[in-house]
Amino acid sequence: MDLSGQRESGNVEDARGGGKKGMAIGGGIVALLVTLVAGYFGIDPRIAQQLAGGLQKGGGKVQDGKGIDDGYKTFSAKVLGSTEDVWEKQFREQGYGVYKKPGMKLFSEGVDSEGCGFAPSAVGPFYCPASEKVFLDPTFFVELEQKLGGSKAEFSQAYVIAHEVGHHVQHRLGYSQRLKEFEARARPNERENQGIRLELQADYLAGVWAHHAADKLQISEVDVREAIKTAKSIGDNRIQEKSRGWSSPEKFNHGTDEQRSRTFLRGFKTGDASKRALEYFFNPDTPPLKL
Ligand SMILES: [Zn+2]
Repeated sequence: MDLSGQRESGNVEDARGGGKKGMAIGGGIVALLVTLVAGYFGIDPRIAQQLAGGLQKGGGKVQDGKGIDDGYKTFSAKVLGSTEDVWEKQFREQGYGVYKKPGMKLFSEGVDSEGCGFAPSAVGPFYCPASEKVFLDPTFFVELEQKLGGSKAEFSQAYVIAHEVGHHVQHRLGYSQRLKEFEARARPNERENQGIRLELQADYLAGVWAHHAADKLQISEVDVREAIKTAKSIGDNRIQEKSRGWSSPEKFNHGTDEQRSRTFLRGFKTGDASKRALEYFFNPDTPPLKL
């Protein structure tokens, strides 16, 4: 991937090392995010709670990151800029109306999501529909780099941002509301599986973005393979296996690694943002776990 020709979005706010807001963690005001806004990682709420508890004990430690110039802001602003370019055009072409761009806030330690509660970094990147913002602690990127190795991680990082922007796109198109209807209709034992519709659709939308950005950003086969490896290594089953030693299909929220990579690839190959393509994830005949 080559971002050198890409403009930066003007909608990125860098609040890293801001200090004051982090104190709320020490104050014990920790609102856990619901599945709808939980971001890329499908972290078990109990684990998030433990992590939040750990932060409380630590007294709300906030690193002073003032003057951080690690390239992550530029990187994030360019990727966000690319998603803006792609989705503005797609919204116009598909007759979805004007694309209202999401905001993005970079933070460290924890953040007030401006409508979805206070979130510790441990929840991973996420989107809050109330503020229409993507929240991101770039230390998550550092973890990806360590896992995948340097430049290879670049596209995987972009893919994570595109996934969160996918949540914004589906919010604008009314799919978040549709999920509520599905949950209301579902049998109690299948209710919590329904969130997978939004998660896989967000992976699909990330693929659609990559399809349309491929020429400009020179997204290569290798990039795509790396992103798939990322999806595979952080699919819900892996996360759960790691945290609890076993995985339970009923608890999956984001999809298995196989489902995620297959769905991303489908979006990447077709680039199809039509209503028909997006409806697939909300077809009552599409079983929540067999997409
Ligand atoms: Zn997600």
